[in-house]
Amino acid sequence: MKCKCGNEAVIYRAFEGRALCKRHFLESVDIRISRTIGQNRLIKRGEHIAVGVSGGKDSSLTLYQLKQLQPKFKLKISAILIDEGIKGYRDKTIKKARQLCKKLKVPLYIGSFKKEFDLSLDEMMKKAKAKRLKHPLNACTYCGVFRRHLLNKIARKIKADKLAIGHNLDDEAQSIMANWIRGDMLRAIRVGAKAYIVKDKILVPRIKPLRDVPEKETALYAILKGFDASFDECPYASESFRWEIRDMINDLEAKHSGTKFSIVKTFDRLQPSIRKMIKVEKLGKCKKCGEVSSQAECKVCLLREIIR
Ligand code: SF4
Ligand code: ZN
Repeated sequence: MKCKCGNEAVIYRAFEGRALCKRHFLESVDIRISRTIGQNRLIKRGEHIAVGVSGGKDSSLTLYQLKQLQPKFKLKISAILIDEGIKGYRDKTIKKARQLCKKLKVPLYIGSFKKEFDLSLDEMMKKAKAKRLKHPLNACTYCGVFRRHLLNKIARKIKADKLAIGHNLDDEAQSIMANWIRGDMLRAIRVGAKAYIVKDKILVPRIKPLRDVPEKETALYAILKGFDASFDECPYASESFRWEIRDMINDLEAKHSGTKFSIVKTFDRLQPSIRKMIKVEKLGKCKKCGEVSSQAECKVCLLREIIR
């Protein structure tokens, strides 16, 4: 298969009906990310952007892209890594994240579940299992809540204006479908290139520069650019609800190309109306820890109570 320029293609984009060579593929991903950043005004001149890194392909690409924009926008860039304590997985990816930050000359701040919550994720799961809870929660529920909390806390501590995360198109489509299926409208209004819509000085706004790039393409970009990124899957991933949704969407995409874009774009059109319907003017504070919360007690405190 050939690209429009006559060179050998590295990818066929079924949803666009065109093949692209290495140069044109990389260029098109760069353009798409710049467009996401520009159209959604994700960054402003002189801002301090903290990038959540993991050593994986998506966060490596996010950091790389923001580094490219650093001179133009006079950005200050830092990286934050959260060590959840997942044996045989996170220990490997941390090494890769350290190497990348060193190569790109970006300061790296590391937070750990063990230090912050006294237990690693592996230990939390052992404890939760031993308690034989009537409605056990899966690892991703604990991990997601604790990681978001810790990322925000570190970003705030280093005085970052924004927190960039490596969510790609597949992640966005999965979040949207998961929220529909669960009927979770509160979470639905937070989906988007700029994730937080409630302004609060203790919440660092989240941005997603890769939101319009399919996962297959973030992987190909990382390979073609020679990023030393991890492609490993977390051992807990297959237990999650998101995993089932991922399989379902991938099946649909294989049969009907463009499904992922369609899920995200349709939701984007509906979201303003959903936001009007579900008004969240101001969030309260958790009575235990003082963090932002829509309930009397925040999710971090509730989950810590379960595994105490
Ligand atoms: Fe955490 Fe689940 Fe992601 Fe693993 S797959 S890192 S447990 S959220
Ligand atoms: Zn709390």
